[in-house]
Amino acid sequence: MKRLVILGGGESGVGTAILGKQKGYDVFVSDKGEIKEAYKNVLEHIEIEWEENQHTEAKILNADVVMKSPGIPDRVPLVQQLVAKGVPVISEIEFATRYTNATIIGITGSNGKTTTTMLTYHLVKHGGLHVGMAGNIGDSYAKMVAENDFGHYVLEISSFQLDGIDKFKPKVAIITNITPDHLDRYDYQFERYIASKFRIAMNQDADDYLIYDADDEVIVNWLKKHPVQSKLVPFSLKTEQEFGAWLAKDTIKIKVEPKTFEMSTDFLTLEGQHNVKNAMAASLASHLVNVRKEAILQSIQSFQGVPHRLEKVLKINHVEYVNDSKATNVNATYYALDGIKKPIVWIVGGVDKGNDYSELMPMVREKVKAIICLGVDNQKLLDAFGNAVEIVVETVAMDEAVKVAYKIAERGDSVLLSPACASFDLFENYEDRGDQFKAAIKKL
Ligand code: ADP
Repeated sequence: MKRLVILGGGESGVGTAILGKQKGYDVFVSDKGEIKEAYKNVLEHIEIEWEENQHTEAKILNADVVMKSPGIPDRVPLVQQLVAKGVPVISEIEFATRYTNATIIGITGSNGKTTTTMLTYHLVKHGGLHVGMAGNIGDSYAKMVAENDFGHYVLEISSFQLDGIDKFKPKVAIITNITPDHLDRYDYQFERYIASKFRIAMNQDADDYLIYDADDEVIVNWLKKHPVQSKLVPFSLKTEQEFGAWLAKDTIKIKVEPKTFEMSTDFLTLEGQHNVKNAMAASLASHLVNVRKEAILQSIQSFQGVPHRLEKVLKINHVEYVNDSKATNVNATYYALDGIKKPIVWIVGGVDKGNDYSELMPMVREKVKAIICLGVDNQKLLDAFGNAVEIVVETVAMDEAVKVAYKIAERGDSVLLSPACASFDLFENYEDRGDQFKAAIKKL
């Protein structure tokens, strides 16, 4: 019996345990921290040995294969030891993929993964295909493979998941964009992070597709130097494409010969230029797995959007409140500021991951009438924007920030929460931050 050791007892770890057990492995789950009660119950129920708050080396180093949760960095000594011993250390998507013949649409990128994944899933599902959605989003992919028989999967995939692949080969891959993020895990080398993202295409061949943002210089320059086997499918807001998608005034054109079609951007339920890109990527992907254009045109209009991503909350006294709590980096906030056409009262701040705010400056000068800093340490924001915006206020709680915004905003303005920072100083996570924002608005 082969031994599968799983490092990390979270969603992907427990899902992998379920699949591993089903496939006849001797499974052991080890977590350096605590394992959630619900997951422990699952492991007990299917009789899988586990430990928490420790890694017992004797029970780990004898593995035939190790599935490492994406949260655990490669530099951890235990992982290094396994690698030195020649034990394959893989990710959940690699493990799960070995047990399905489904057609896979894999989606990665720095921003827009979740939105594009959910939209693609919506289009493929409404196109009549039997499809599952997994990866970083919702349920574990491995668990789905164990318990379902989907013919298609739409997977949201982080660079950490891609670091642990060997044979994973999506029929359709999407790279939404690449901007600096998570550099702490890549020795602060942007090149290494880019290379990680492109692993999504490393096993693709000429019958597979790589959809990418042709306006993204990082992607285009990388492809020039590192050609891939895949058929390239670019999308652009600016330039007509031979094979791909582009925007011509207010019309999205899709051309994947011999098929072509177009749709008005009025069909899109999500605001902002970045969502035009996400819609192009999702439409291309669904079309390439044979969803009919009529189905795409119809279902794209019924997509509900994704919470905490430019989510419209309420209108009070003709002021619109928008929750973009998921914007945890500058690039995401850029698109939020760009997408909103009204004067903005901007709630920003949190844990800064090494932000350079200069690219926001022109838009801030043009549109932002007040900045409400919401973080434990706001110094960097004050330094960056103190001279550019007339009103800058410091707050330390969401209720307070929303009340101040309410006082400042006038008829026709937007109040935007788009922090450009992580949330851990004042909140549990970005969902908690967004939920508190929405609750505070409802109390006004
Ligand atoms: P991810 O899953 O990659 O973090 P999300 O879909 O959750 O991406 O969106 C994260 C943030 O990025 C949100 O603030 C959203 O408005 C913004 N965003 C969405 N799509 C894009 C895009 N294509 N380019 C830049 N920013 C985007």
